[in-house]
Amino acid sequence: MVLRAETDLEPEDDLKLLKEQVFAQMLLLGYAEETISELGEITLGFLRRDATQRHGVTRFHPGIDLKGELGPKNIRRVDLHREILAEDWRDYGAYVLYHEYCHCLGYPGHGRDFRAFERLWRDDHSQKKGRQFTDYLRQRNAVWNWICPTCKAVHARRKRANGRYKCRKCDIILLDVENSNLAQ
Ligand SMILES: [Zn+2]
Ligand SMILES: [Zn+2]
Repeated sequence: MVLRAETDLEPEDDLKLLKEQVFAQMLLLGYAEETISELGEITLGFLRRDATQRHGVTRFHPGIDLKGELGPKNIRRVDLHREILAEDWRDYGAYVLYHEYCHCLGYPGHGRDFRAFERLWRDDHSQKKGRQFTDYLRQRNAVWNWICPTCKAVHARRKRANGRYKCRKCDIILLDVENSNLAQ
């Protein structure tokens, strides 16, 4: 029998593990089991692969009054960036999921009540981690254009040419120009 390493989990199973990690922490923070089991009913999924700015999204059911009394039953689904499950980002991922669950408790915006819940999660580095995660995703999505300075031919590549490639036609070293990002 071959044991599967944790990294070989199906993404959906991995998402479940992250959810359990967040729920365990929420119990320690004093959330009622009933609240947690309501949150547990919410469908979890993934954002588009090329998202960079958004790391998690809570989607309320369409047509509800966002100013009214809201709770987990009004949530259609929560989507997270799949890269957040990677080992390097997992702690940040737990924070993001907790942040989304705070929205699910009935707070669509980032107002004072929302922040009071969110603050319970003791992680002083989450903002910094968020910026790092965005940078990481941008880097990953970046496209380099290898450009011939003479004939202006452009070749889109995932990596820099780093002076290692020449234009076939002109026999001149191609230059690297970053194409900041793929479309969001
Ligand atoms: Zn939010
Ligand atoms: Zn050329």
